[in-house]
Amino acid sequence: MYDMDWRKARAVLKAHGADLYRSGQLARAVFRQAVGSYAEVSVLPAELRQALEREAPLLSLSLAAESRSQDGTVKALLGLARGGQVETVLMRPTPRRWTACISTQTGCPIGCAFCATAKAGPGRSLSAEEITDQALYWRQFLRREASAERLRNVVYMGMGEPFLNYENFQQSLRALLDQKLFGIGARHVSVSTAGLAPQMERFAKDFPQVNLAVSLHAANDALRDRLVPINKTYPLAVLARTLKSVFVENNRKVFLEYVILKGENDSPGDAEDLAAFIRSVDSKLLHVNLLLYNPADDGAIRGGMIPTEADARRFQGYLRDEGLICTVRQSFGRDIAAACGQLAAREKIRRAP
Ligand code: SF4
Repeated sequence: MYDMDWRKARAVLKAHGADLYRSGQLARAVFRQAVGSYAEVSVLPAELRQALEREAPLLSLSLAAESRSQDGTVKALLGLARGGQVETVLMRPTPRRWTACISTQTGCPIGCAFCATAKAGPGRSLSAEEITDQALYWRQFLRREASAERLRNVVYMGMGEPFLNYENFQQSLRALLDQKLFGIGARHVSVSTAGLAPQMERFAKDFPQVNLAVSLHAANDALRDRLVPINKTYPLAVLARTLKSVFVENNRKVFLEYVILKGENDSPGDAEDLAAFIRSVDSKLLHVNLLLYNPADDGAIRGGMIPTEADARRFQGYLRDEGLICTVRQSFGRDIAAACGQLAAREKIRRAP
């Protein structure tokens, strides 16, 4: 609930003659306490609660199906009141660090070769409210299932390219950072892009404290054109220039995501290309995260490309030989197709009861 509907909720309060302080009470109940319905907001008079229930629904989406991983990750398929479906994921990388991976589109037009979302088609862009409601959905979920815990970390790494939906994305992010609403710390939010240069520069100005990750996956243009087709519009030289201007704007680390596709982008030569790209930008401010390719049910581009952890460690060694430190990132929710590159709203998951 943000933007249009949060304003709508405040308009309902005003129309019913509620004092100004009621808005703060409502915001605390909805965003901090994560109430499941207005009926639970007992500080508000019953007449106001009923009016809100009628005129400003708490969520713009509802659970269609859910699956739970052995590692504790939960994936939800959410039906959107305005049409379509989207997937969102709740992970727990460490015992007290719940992280929501939220989506900005119902598909993705970027068309990365290894990504199940791309195979779902371009989809449509979500409204700001549909984006933030995924975070609100997980806050309500945690209140039900782990009452002492609260969602404090959000990554824009779900379905879609956030920078293709910049206006709604930036409104949603402002809501997450707003201390009167979600109150999430800027450094607890990460945004991933396939490398849309103009929006990267805008983002660096708009949100200097929020983490930025670039899905690189290859550091020579011929291969990246194939794996991340937006490279044809913003090739590596443009990306390098853009990263430099991002660093001028704010001197913060940017993460390069590199999914290991066995036999495709993990040779010593690929590591040399990656090291050369990083040196051409700034080796102190770029940090490489290596990820294992996660095939979805129908998403494997070629069986032989599925890497093991040993493959990732080998590539990490090549990079180390080039003088680069990088991290092999753990995947969460692979067994329920909730890991990077596996989200696709059309995928069949267990229907909700
Ligand atoms: S990896 Fe990201 S940008 Fe690429 S197709 Fe998938 S969702 Fe879109």
